[in-house]
Order: sequence, then structure tokens, then C-alpha cells
Amino acid sequence: MFQSSFWSESDLHEKKYEIKTAPWQRFVHRDRFLAKGKGSPGFPHAKVNIRKRRYSSEPSELKNLLLSPFTMYLVRTPRIIQSLFPRFTWRNSDHEKVVHLTFDDGPIPEVTPWVLEQLARYDARATFFCVGHNVEKHPDIYEQVVDRGHLTGNHTYNHLDGWNTDNMIYLRNVRKAARMVNSNLFRPPYGRILPSQAHFLQRHYQIVMWDVLSGDFDPHLSPEDCLANVMNNVRPGSIVVLHDSLKSFATLQFVLPRLLAELDAQGYRFDVVPQATEAEVLVPQAMPSLLPA
Ligand SMILES: [Zn+2]
Repeated sequence: MFQSSFWSESDLHEKKYEIKTAPWQRFVHRDRFLAKGKGSPGFPHAKVNIRKRRYSSEPSELKNLLLSPFTMYLVRTPRIIQSLFPRFTWRNSDHEKVVHLTFDDGPIPEVTPWVLEQLARYDARATFFCVGHNVEKHPDIYEQVVDRGHLTGNHTYNHLDGWNTDNMIYLRNVRKAARMVNSNLFRPPYGRILPSQAHFLQRHYQIVMWDVLSGDFDPHLSPEDCLANVMNNVRPGSIVVLHDSLKSFATLQFVLPRLLAELDAQGYRFDVVPQATEAEVLVPQAMPSLLPA
């Protein structure tokens, strides 16, 4: 585990890291801004200060078609994707019989305490990727998570989609969440992060992805199929994504107790995500920018 030193506003403007928005990002932003307007999906009331840009064209059918494959999700993260981003944490490579459960989008009083109770029954430790806005509203729930020995990670302040958000806004949002979430772990909401954003954040964070996505957020997936998603794909060292959110709660209430019982019966234990060493995840400070100047 390493200590991250936090960045200052002036770091965002350092020439050598060049985190300004690339032309192709602006192209992506254009249609997304037109389609959704302000805010972020799931957090429509979040006060995100995103200026609407003025563009003349409407989103094209072709563009929607091109983007649609990215809106689907894969239950198991393919090896090829994992190898494209070797500095991200996808799975524990120790191959011990341990599963790393992660809970995203909390903490909230309606769901998180219930999750903590379920975990306590199996002496399970887990990792909670918290939305800063929720931590600010429910500091007591956040304290409970920490007091019970779980790890927390930064999940931005307003649950921003990195593909859809200007780099400066995105990074400031992460920093805002860091005031409430004291952690070296970061998980990008929706798993969407641009290379330029990751490049900057990896000077301060271990970026934690997953190898098993339960799909508990998917209203078209039955709780039984969600459980099967996990049970059929979990392996020693797997990092599993679940959500302590209202949207997922009905499914989670079915899935989590069964998941814990079945994996426990198979001899698995449950621990926090593996914490990498500095050399494994941090981008060296002198590394050149991924974006054209
Ligand atoms: Zn999330």
C-alpha cells in the first residue's frame, strides 16, 4: 500500500501532463451533452457545473449506432481488456481462495447498514467505492463502514461518467470526493475512464476495476440470473461488483445472502481488494502525456 500525496489546482495545468480535452473527446461530448443535458445519470439532481456547449448538429443515428456497443456490459471482463490496462487492478493474482466483494455508489442509510450486517455474519471484509455526495449526506453511515474494518474507495463526488465529462471537471470532482473519502483506491463510475484521466489519477490512486460484474443494477435481469452471473464466473481472487444503491436493493437482498452462503460453503473467504505497491500501479511522474500537445 502506498500513500498518495494529493494534487493541487496548479497540477491540473502542468504542461507536461497535458490533461486538456482532446479533439475526439469533444466530439463524444457534443452528442452526449445534447442528448442528456446537465447532470449525470442516476444523480439528476447533483449540482454538476457543466456548461452546455453550443453545437449546431443533432445526434446522428450513425453516432448512436457506433456508441451503442459501449452501453452493453460484460459479466466477466475479458482478458484482452485486462491486458490493455495492466496498471488497473482487475483481480487478485495470488490465486488464493478469496473473493473481493465491492459495493459501489453508497453509502446510504436504506441499504449500506443492511449490507454491513450480511457481511458481519461471515466475518467478511469488503470494499466500498463511495460517492462523495453520499458520504457528505451520511457521514455516520460512512463511519460505520470504516469502523467495521472495511476499505473505502473514491467513486467521484457526483458519479461522473469519465467518457462524458471534461477532464478538468472530472478530476476536480474526484478531488472533491477525496476530502470525504480518505483512500488510495479509485473506481471510475460505469468503469468509464479516458486514458488521459487515468494517466493523471494514477499518480495518486490505485485504479480498481473488476473481473465479475453482477449486473445487480440491471432491471431486466432477474435476481436468480444475477446470482448465477456471479456464481458461474467467480474464481479465486475475483473482484466482484455489487451496489449498495436503492436501484439494486431488491436484487441485492436476494443475491448477497445466497452469494455469501454459497461461496462460504465452497471454502472461500472474503477480503478487501488487494492493495498494490506503488511500483505496480503508479504512473511515473516523468512519463510523457498520452494526448497530443
Ligand atoms: Zn457507480
